[in-house]
Amino acid sequence: MNKKEIIPVWGRILRGYRPFLSLEITKLCPLKCPGCYAYEPGHLNNGHRMKDLPEFVGDELIERTLALVARFRPLHVSFVGGEPLVRHRELTRLIPKLNNLGIEVQVVTSAVRQIPAEWTEFPNLHLAVSVDGLKNDHDARRAPATYERILRHMTGHRVIIHCTIIPRFLASGYLEEFVHFWSDQKSVRKILFSLFTPQRGVQIPERLTRAERGIAVDRIHSLRSKYTKVHAPDLVLEGFRHPPASPRDCIFTQVTTCISPDLATQIAPCQIGGRPECSECGCLAGAWLASVGRIKLAGLIKLSDIFAVSKKLGDCFRNGHNLRSRLPANPGLRTQ
Ligand code: SF4
Ligand code: SF4
Repeated sequence: MNKKEIIPVWGRILRGYRPFLSLEITKLCPLKCPGCYAYEPGHLNNGHRMKDLPEFVGDELIERTLALVARFRPLHVSFVGGEPLVRHRELTRLIPKLNNLGIEVQVVTSAVRQIPAEWTEFPNLHLAVSVDGLKNDHDARRAPATYERILRHMTGHRVIIHCTIIPRFLASGYLEEFVHFWSDQKSVRKILFSLFTPQRGVQIPERLTRAERGIAVDRIHSLRSKYTKVHAPDLVLEGFRHPPASPRDCIFTQVTTCISPDLATQIAPCQIGGRPECSECGCLAGAWLASVGRIKLAGLIKLSDIFAVSKKLGDCFRNGHNLRSRLPANPGLRTQ
């Protein structure tokens, strides 16, 4: 989000809406990435598993998605997975409709299949391709979305390469080799890093220690001064160093609605679902907003406090509005 976008975002919050909507548009995915949270039993927090939910295709998916957009009135919609490209036909019809509504769209994909050529014409589309480290590691972790396929499928597009750092990627020279390779690709416009966010109490090889998080942030910092495509603002790095203590302290989760493939079940507290260890959060947007919240206006009031007041006002406004719209026009006047 840039400075120009802050005012409309604030306007939505003051009217009681969450400006960001994240949709798991399908439960299907041909990959089996280690550390994937989407198919874990606790992801939905309601005893159901994502694979048991119904999902929609064709006109029904488009209509239901637009109905959600009308209900939540987001400024930005992220399509995540499963693998969103499984529904590329529907997305090809949906993205221009969302553009007509002034909504920015992000598609987070493994690029396991060809990204449709007509998507290069969509001005509101931001394509983020997930890459898990150097070729050998990535291909082992994310086949069939191998390096060879990603390079082929993103040709002609302008994509963001997104890498989630895990301990293995902190070997000497590893991240630099990664950035060097992807910086050289003409289709790549930006390279982003996040850190692996674990679930509470789950010990897996992807989990970073506190020391490893510090090393990762230092490496990203030094890479961004050497490679112009690495986008890592100070506020994001600061947020990685000091993540929110809990979902209650996380601004990102309070401005984003996350919905699973039945287009009804909400995922909480954030897209990761389950019980994330917020104190080890590595989410880019979460980190950026955590740091923004710590900025003090005129050195006095923290932006997070202003946000909390704005959100309360917005919730009151919307509740009052909803209540008024349910009342008869003149409750004291009987018509019969
Ligand atoms: S591509 Fe995404 S949804 Fe599919 S297995 Fe990997 S992390 Fe999970
Ligand atoms: S984005 Fe990070 S800090 Fe916020 S709720 Fe999710 S895991 Fe916790």
